[in-house]
Amino acid sequence: MHYISTRGNAPSLTFSAALLSGLATDGGLYLPQAYPHWQAGDIAALAGNSFADNVAALIAPYIGPDLSAETLKTMIEASYSTFRHDAVAPLVQIDDHLFLLELFHGPTLAFKDVAMQLLGRLMDHVLRQSGRRATIVGATSGDTGAAAIEAFRGLDNVDLFILYPHGRVSEVQRRQMTGVGAANVHAIALEGTFDDAQSIVKGLFNQPACRDELGLSAVNSINWARILAQISYYFTAALSLGAPHRDVSFSVPTGNFGDIFAGYVAKRMGLPINRLTVATNSNDLLVRALASGLYRPRDVVATQSPSMDIQVSSNFERLLFEAYNRDVAKVCEAMAQLSRERQFDIAAEALARIRRDFAAEAVSESETREEMQRTYRATGIVIDPHTAVGVAAARRQGRRGAGATPTVVLATAHPAKFPEAVEAATGVRPALPPHLADLMTRREHRTRLPNDLATVESFIRSRSRAAQHNSAA
Ligand SMILES: *Cc1c(COP(=O)(O)O)cnc(C)c1O
Repeated sequence: MHYISTRGNAPSLTFSAALLSGLATDGGLYLPQAYPHWQAGDIAALAGNSFADNVAALIAPYIGPDLSAETLKTMIEASYSTFRHDAVAPLVQIDDHLFLLELFHGPTLAFKDVAMQLLGRLMDHVLRQSGRRATIVGATSGDTGAAAIEAFRGLDNVDLFILYPHGRVSEVQRRQMTGVGAANVHAIALEGTFDDAQSIVKGLFNQPACRDELGLSAVNSINWARILAQISYYFTAALSLGAPHRDVSFSVPTGNFGDIFAGYVAKRMGLPINRLTVATNSNDLLVRALASGLYRPRDVVATQSPSMDIQVSSNFERLLFEAYNRDVAKVCEAMAQLSRERQFDIAAEALARIRRDFAAEAVSESETREEMQRTYRATGIVIDPHTAVGVAAARRQGRRGAGATPTVVLATAHPAKFPEAVEAATGVRPALPPHLADLMTRREHRTRLPNDLATVESFIRSRSRAAQHNSAA
């Protein structure tokens, strides 16, 4: 399988090369040349397999000859053995036609572990094969950083630098990043906001010398392999509810549009998904864009669901590429308009195509609290604020007449990750699971740095083994 850029002006790459590069050199995002199509009978035959077996079957065609089936299988099994539920991603009913897909049983308690555990193993393998080293730099508002640190700690060929906004992540999130203490992991508390952290990361990637010498690589959801690993749970959840003989809908708490785009890919592969609901908090860029056809970011507001406090949904570019029938000129035009005018228009026929697959609902802060309460009172199940946004959006879609199609809400985080918000809404303070019981007393390792590109760059250069390795070679 080969990968092409959404902007059409970068070389097409193999899976391994796309994995290591993250962003395409023309600024676009990589997508497969085609989506393998699954017949209903082949989908039905997946029922009853283990989660790991299904992941292997579903993603192997995207990887092609780069990795043997056996190597891939071993990596997938190791990835999901870190989860603390035998089913990996269990499905729980909370109302008529309404289900939660619990994606938070991994080491850092958010759905990002599902992809990151596999990404770490894939990258390590590809680097070892090619005798290269990589420096991974990422900005995080909390969950991505913790999941990446957990997945990459202790790896020989990778150094990981995670920039988080000093004082702006929850204590649990911070301690998950600083409490690890592996020699190849560097948590940087940046004196600035998440956007400042992200612009420093972009600044590093935009210097070709720096990118090559350090072997820079990205682990945020612009990396295709993250999306790929997330396709599988749409299949396993739908199979549990009667697919391929019955349609299923999904409601997905959304920020950067990576997770829900994986659902769109599942649909393109032949999974009978009726509707994908983009569930946002008050940062409702995508809801406005789907309603009006105008994509126009505003300032970010802080909410109880901080992992969705985002105003530029990078992966939306992937959907745009598909909605324009892969016409790269149209995508480039939209992206140029975005950087010139801070907004762009979605053409009518592309918008109509998007609306055929997607609905969108914005959920306010009070509705999020009410949903945590309602779910707790009705079922005894404590949900986190991100998941509550997804549940409230699904109920609203139901009231709009979405009918009796079963709807799966992706439960993206464990409630113990956001104990203050959960306790304020339900009166219950969720406890950390046993493997994290000592988190609040672990020694923290972090470096506080000013919001300055040159300072961050020299810090990374002095600690990256890739820089030393590549200059010695
Ligand atoms: C990252 C995250 C999201 C948003 O996922 P995207 O792929 O960025 O849309 C939702 N909920 C939680 C808990 C997250 O960590």
